[in-house]
Amino acid sequence: MKVLKFGGTSVGSAARIEHVADLVAHAPAGSIVVLSAMSGTTNTLVEIAEYLYKGNIPGAQETINALTERYDAVLTELFGADVNTHPEPRAAVARSLALLRSYCRGALTVQGEKEILAQGELMSTAIMLEVLRRRGIAAAMLPALDYMRITADGEPDMESTATALRRLIELEPQAQLFLTQGYICRNHAGAIDNLRRGGSDYSASIIGALADAEEIQIWTDIDGMHNNDPRYVEGTRPVRMLHFEEAAELAYFGAKILHPACVLPAKLHNIPVRLLNTLEPQAPGTLICNCPSDGTVKAIAAKDGITLVNIKSGRMLLAYGFLHKVFETFENHRTSIDIMATSEVAVSVTIDDDSRLAAIVDDLMEFGTVSVDRNKVIVCIVGDLSHSDDDSRLGGIMRALADIPVRMISYGASERSVAILVDADDKLRTLKALSAHLFNEA
Ligand code: ADP
Ligand code: ASP
Ligand code: MG
Repeated sequence: MKVLKFGGTSVGSAARIEHVADLVAHAPAGSIVVLSAMSGTTNTLVEIAEYLYKGNIPGAQETINALTERYDAVLTELFGADVNTHPEPRAAVARSLALLRSYCRGALTVQGEKEILAQGELMSTAIMLEVLRRRGIAAAMLPALDYMRITADGEPDMESTATALRRLIELEPQAQLFLTQGYICRNHAGAIDNLRRGGSDYSASIIGALADAEEIQIWTDIDGMHNNDPRYVEGTRPVRMLHFEEAAELAYFGAKILHPACVLPAKLHNIPVRLLNTLEPQAPGTLICNCPSDGTVKAIAAKDGITLVNIKSGRMLLAYGFLHKVFETFENHRTSIDIMATSEVAVSVTIDDDSRLAAIVDDLMEFGTVSVDRNKVIVCIVGDLSHSDDDSRLGGIMRALADIPVRMISYGASERSVAILVDADDKLRTLKALSAHLFNEA
């Protein structure tokens, strides 16, 4: 069996939903189809929650009305204008919309927001189930809220998820195809939660790992992982093959096509991941696997919203334990470090979550002089960057960046990546300069 995940654009209209039904109709028996919400829906749900947090009830109501119109149109296009036909998807959509309206009556809580955000995937899967069944496909729903669990740390609870998933699958021995929601889950307390924005990829990878799939397919709106960010650089090209670690670095450092955490479960279970294009199903896409290096640089990605924290201390000189204290401070505030550089008297680290920054700086001031520099971008170059003596690859990269003020560089930890830190204003020219040098583009 395979796991096939379809993103928001892939199920973004009635026609696209029918097209996905065409694509999954011939999936191997027992395959699991993971769906995102229809494109734009989760953003709209975020917007509704924002209105509710601000107490702007008319703003929320208007947005819910617009969403209702959109889903009415999709239901009519797929199932006809007679509301007495195809009752199941119509009722599921009506339930979700009614739940959104119910939140217009009081103050919104964080838990309420999570319930609101879950409605997109609940609606898209309810619609798809009927489209598949209407075609005579024996499709069964695996409700994600009945099996996908995260721990108190927000990590997937693989054991309980595996047990519950297996049980649900066993309850449907006649099913030829399973359908499930990406993104949504329950937390350790049993309340509705999610795997963060873009999390349907992560759902697919977790499910693929637990169900021991032969392949995890991520179907999206582009023909695989490109060698640079197509939103910023022209003339990018798909990369045909990536090692799990290369894909993980690219996803973590900003290649939006994959959720940052989604490679790990597939890698641990050695399940190939294929990135495919719903709009061009015959295109080969990108295969992510445990493949040997071909000696090339594969791709570049950029991660925005980075903050640089620098700690300078005379006490670091010849002392041990200094870095331990610095790391412990970040750990105490549950803030992870992206890249770092050290010298004898200073250490610089970058973080992408600055929600605890003030408290972190406060604690770090015990150990040295602290400065903070915001609005940075990490540009990560991924591929074969092994440290062979005769390799001038790093030299070439540095020459390509000759006119760009690089703030920090991380090289040597991995033979698969070089990460550089630049000002946000320099992001575009950094991406273009690297593309021109590495791939003769832009
Ligand atoms: P989905 O809704 O299917 O999950 P996403 O919007 O999350 O799709 O991801 C696909 C998008 O990722 C592409 O349309 C593209 O704009 C963006 N993207 C960013 N970097 C890359 C890259 N290196 N290769 C391919 N796509 C990328
Ligand atoms: N619908 C969710 C989002 O837009 C999850 C996903 O699409 O992967 O973030
Ligand atoms: Mg996505």
